[in-house]
Order: sequence, then structure tokens, then C-alpha cells
Amino acid sequence: MVEIFGKTKKKHKLKMRRGNVTGISTIDNRFARIAVVGEDFDDMSLEGPCDHFKLALPRTDGSCLTFDEQSLKFLGGEITRDITAKRSILGGVEIEVALHAGGELYSWISKLQKYEGNEYPQELSEILLLGPKSSIILPKIDHLVIAVDHAAYPALTRWLDLLGEDEDVDIFLISDWDQNQEYFGKHWQRQNLKFNVISPDHSGETLLQAIQSVYLYPDHYIWFAGEATTLIKARKWLRTNSVVPKENMKIDGYWKEGIAGRSHHDPIDPNEPELG
Ligand SMILES: Cc1cc2nc3c(=O)[nH]c(=O)nc-3n(C[C@H](O)[C@H](O)[C@H](O)COP(=O)(O)OP(=O)(O)OC[C@H]3O[C@@H](n4cnc5c(N)ncnc54)[C@H](O)[C@@H]3O)c2cc1C
Repeated sequence: MVEIFGKTKKKHKLKMRRGNVTGISTIDNRFARIAVVGEDFDDMSLEGPCDHFKLALPRTDGSCLTFDEQSLKFLGGEITRDITAKRSILGGVEIEVALHAGGELYSWISKLQKYEGNEYPQELSEILLLGPKSSIILPKIDHLVIAVDHAAYPALTRWLDLLGEDEDVDIFLISDWDQNQEYFGKHWQRQNLKFNVISPDHSGETLLQAIQSVYLYPDHYIWFAGEATTLIKARKWLRTNSVVPKENMKIDGYWKEGIAGRSHHDPIDPNEPELG
């Protein structure tokens, strides 16, 4: 496996955190921002842009979520999804879900939204969050190229919060949304960030062309996260035809069209098993 961004991964003691949803707000029906609170979050420190959890959703039969205390493994029957730890809040964490019909997350959030005044029943609001397992500690970066779709907007927000004003960043948002500027707010005006919006295209051709339009140097860093098939062509071109070493790339298939609950440890490109 490729070492991402040199040896910059800091491991944390893995911890299972039990929390309760205390509030949900939506952004243009595209995102649900969810506050999760519980004493297990007291010692959580978020250090890297991609810090994330394995989230276990409430059981549909209403029974309590359980896990093995020794191995920190879920005991089975849970539905789990990867989710970014977007930011710490008082007593907990904020997560943000890119809404799309048909997913388990959406079905859980829809049930919660039926309750008014943030009075959620325990059996719907209690979740388990495993992690964060590790943090990427950013090396000194001069040039960065980012391509993400909505699933990685929370992580992109973390990247932008952590990056200073000296880095030169080309950002490709794979999106058909008319409110990207509002979503990224103050970051949209920053001189060192160049936002481009490209259309979602699972053939990967649109992203490939976009990346080929960037003048790349060997000290460029690459971070892509989104629908796995969309990333294949650009990843292949970057690894075989560009001057950027693969150690400077983190290319992460956050989800895959038509597959529920895909693991991001599965290869993005079926013809090329190496991750990253
Ligand atoms: C490290 C990491 C961090 C992540 N952080 C976040 C995060 O902060 N917020 C977030 O929303 N997602 C995030 N994701 C992606 C998320 O885990 C997947 O999108 C997951 O499949 C969503 O689960 P679901 O229950 O909504 O859909 P699933 O039940 O897994 O899938 C049902 C169907 O929906 C499709 N689908 C899945 N995700 C999407 C999507 N985003 N858009 C359109 N269709 C989709 C699938 O292809 C499938 O056909 C992250 C993934 C990783 C690996």
C-alpha cells in the first residue's frame, strides 16, 4: 500500500464512542448537519483533514447497539457507514451527510426528522462511532489539487480550515448544485484557492480532462475523494503519465454507484489493486 503523503499518518488509540443526536439542520435538502453528543467524546481530538468514524446506525428492531469491549468490534447485525468528523462541538461532534434517496443514512435521518423540537426517541437517536483511527498530519504543501463530490464536502471543509494562505490549491467540485459558493462561504473568496465546478460524470472523462488542464509539478499533492468509478481514469493518468509521485496522492473511493455500504479499503480500480 502506498504511504500517503510520505509518512504522515498518526495513529490514535481506537475508541468506540456512544452518542445521541441532539439536533439536525438541512442545507437545501442536499446535506443534513447532525450534532451528536455524549461523554465518550470528551477525549476526542481531531487533528487531520480526513479524520473519520465508522458509524453504526440504530437497529431497526429498537434493541441497543452493542460491541465487544475487548476487540471494539461490532457484534453483528449493525449497519455501518464511514463518516467524517467534521468538527468538534460542545460535548460532541458534528457530522454531515450528503443526502441521496435510497441510502441507509437517508432512511435513518428521515425517521429522525419526523420529530419536532429535537426530541428524538432514544432508540433512533443513539449511535456508535468508532474512531477516529488515525489522522493525516499535513506535510508542508505548496501545491495541492483536490477533486471531490458531495460525500467529501465535509472533509474538504476540514482541509480548507487547516490549510493556510500560502498553499496554491486547485479544487474541482464534482457537482450539479447551484449553492456551492454559499456552502463553502468564506473559503470561496480566498486568493490561494481556485474553485472549479465540473459535472458529475461516472465515466470519469470530465474529471480526467479537468486534471489534465492543471500544470503539475513533482511537488504537487493530490487528494481526490468521491464516487469510485469516476476517479479511475484520472487516477490512472496521474499515476502513469504525470510528474507527481504516487506517494503524493491520496485517492479515496468514498462510495460506488450501485453498491450499498462499500468499503473504501476495496480497490478503486478493479484492474489495479493498490489503494491510494
Ligand atoms: C473516509 C470516508 C469519509 C466519508 N465521509 C462522509 C461524510 O462526511 N458525509 C457523507 O455523506 N458521506 C461520507 N462518506 C461516504 C459515505 O460513507 C458513503 O456515501 C455511504 O455509502 C453512504 O451510505 P448510505 O447509507 O447513504 O448509502 P448506501 O446504503 O451505502 O448506498 C445506497 C445507494 O446509494 C448510493 N450512494 C452511496 N453514497 C452516495 C452518495 N454520496 N451520493 C449518491 N449516491 C450514493 C450507492 O451507490 C447505493 O446505490 C465517507 C466515506 C469515506 C470512505
